[in-house]
Amino acid sequence: MYLRKLTDKDKLDLKARTEKIIELQDKGICFGCYNFEKGNIFPDEGLIIYEDDLIRCQFEKYPRATGQTIIVSKEHYEDISEMPLELGTYILKMTNRLIALHKELLGAEKVYLCTICDGKRNHLHFQLLPRLIGEVGGYGHFVKEEGILTDYHELADVFRTRLEGFAEEA
Ligand SMILES: [Zn+2]
Repeated sequence: MYLRKLTDKDKLDLKARTEKIIELQDKGICFGCYNFEKGNIFPDEGLIIYEDDLIRCQFEKYPRATGQTIIVSKEHYEDISEMPLELGTYILKMTNRLIALHKELLGAEKVYLCTICDGKRNHLHFQLLPRLIGEVGGYGHFVKEEGILTDYHELADVFRTRLEGFAEEA
């Protein structure tokens, strides 16, 4: 798994995705719920590494950090203020599992967590940004330029295998 610089075509694709999200938000439609229904904003493409009735975990296709992973609630909540705390605990358990895997499998030294859920309409999700050994630490890590994830299928399979049975254990 590594990050390649965006080509002009990639930049157009990413811009189109952002514009689609804003277009939906402007219409008062949640892009998260829309994606669960249609699957065409954040298509699977082998990026989904875990899914159950409550959450989905997926590698970001255009990450700022290698292995950037999104944990998204299946149910619609605008942000943490609406989130049932039991769900929050569940998500934190998954966060803990994913960070351990990022460290073990990706060589992450630290993993950053953020949730923004801004804009007219949003859908509860959390971003995990691994900071690999040798990469500069600090807030700048959140705003690095996006790349495109490549050569990730094999590692995604390992993540999927390691996350099997999470719901039963959590
Ligand atoms: Zn939603």
